[in-house]
Amino acid sequence: MKITIVAGARPNFIKIAPIIKAIEKKQREGNTISYRLVHTGQHYDKNLSDTFFEELNIPHPDANLEVKSGSQSVQTAAIMIAFEQELIKNPSDLVLVVGDVNSTMACAIVAKKLNIKVAHVEAGIRSGDMTMPEEINRIVTDSITDYFFTTSTSASQNLIQYGANPNNIHFVGNVMIDTLYQNLDRISAPSFWNEFQLNKGNYIILTLHRPANVDEEHSLIQLLKGIDEMIGNKKIIFPIHPRTKAILGENDLALRNTVLVEPQGYLNFMFLIKNCFAVITDSGGISEETTVLGIPCFTMRDNTERPETQTVGTNTLVGTSLENLKKLFAEFLQNGQRPAGIPELWDGKASERIIEILLTK
Ligand code: UDP
Repeated sequence: MKITIVAGARPNFIKIAPIIKAIEKKQREGNTISYRLVHTGQHYDKNLSDTFFEELNIPHPDANLEVKSGSQSVQTAAIMIAFEQELIKNPSDLVLVVGDVNSTMACAIVAKKLNIKVAHVEAGIRSGDMTMPEEINRIVTDSITDYFFTTSTSASQNLIQYGANPNNIHFVGNVMIDTLYQNLDRISAPSFWNEFQLNKGNYIILTLHRPANVDEEHSLIQLLKGIDEMIGNKKIIFPIHPRTKAILGENDLALRNTVLVEPQGYLNFMFLIKNCFAVITDSGGISEETTVLGIPCFTMRDNTERPETQTVGTNTLVGTSLENLKKLFAEFLQNGQRPAGIPELWDGKASERIIEILLTK
C-alpha cells in the first residue's frame, strides 16, 4: 500500500510524527507499506515548521508545495492546484490527512476527485461553530472521507449523525497524545527558564491565536492587560503566535507580569506546560495535552470540538470574556483543581491502531 501523507501546519506536524513511526515499524516487520510525505507549506516559519521536523525526527518532506499565506480561499485554491499536480505525478492508493486546517480539506478534495481513497485522522470532532474556518474544513473533509479515525466516541457519534457508514469509523485514540508520550523523556527547559526565574508552578502559560480573540486589536490588548492584572503573583509566559504578533505590532503593552517569547519548539513547550501552574489558551491541541498532563486549562472560546477535555479532563470552557475568566479563575484559586482523568484510548497507541487497520484495507 502506497500512502500520501499531507501536513501543512504546526499541529499537523505533531500529529503525523507518530503515524510515520508506526508505518516505519510495519516496514521493518516486513509489511508492504510505503509513504510519501507532502508538506503544503501552509506554515513556513522556522518556529512553526522546521523546528518540529527536527525535534520530532520527521523525515524531510518528499515534496513541499510552498503555498504560504493567503486569504482562506486563495490559500485553499493554491494548495488544491499544487497538490493535484503532485498527486498526478506521484499516484498513491490513499491520501491521509490530519486535523482541520486548510491543507486537510484542500488535499482531501483533490484526492477524492482523482478517485483516490481518503483517510482522515481526528475525524468527526465538531464545535458547531460555523464561523470557525476549521469547522468548515472538518465538515467538508468528513463528507468525502473513506476511513474515519476518531479520538472519542462522541466524534464517532457525530459522524453517524452525519450519515457516515459505521463500518468506516474507527475509534483509535489520539495521535497528538502518542507524540506527547513518545517525547516526555526528551522535554527540556527553554533557555529563558533561569533568566525569568521560573520554577515548577510559579508561572502560567498563555497562548492566543484564534480570530475571535486576536483579530480586533483593542479587545486583544484589553484581554492581555486584564489577564496580566488578574494573575497577581505569578509570571505569565506568552509564546506569541505570528498571527497575534502581527496584530499587536509595535504596541507597548506595559505588562507587569507577562513575558512575550517566540513560539516555542515542541520539547521546550511541553516542558513549560508540564511544569506550569495553569494554562490560558484558545488552542484545541493544548487542551488535550493539559488533560493528559493533569494541568488546569482555561479555554478562551465559546465552544469546543473536544468535549472530553471538559467532561473527563482538566479543561474549563471560559468563553471569550475577561470577566468570565476572572470569575472562573478565582473559583479555581479558592477550590483548587477539580478531579480529572484521561479520556479512553488516549494511551499513546493510536497511530499503531491506525496503520494496523489500514493494512487490512
Ligand atoms: N505548540 C508548541 N509551541 C508553542 C505553542 C504550541 O509546540 O509555542 C504546540 C502544542 O503542542 C499544541 C500545538 O502546537 O498542541 C498546536 O497548537 P495550535 O494552538 O497552533 O493549534 P490548535 O491546537 O489550536 O489547532
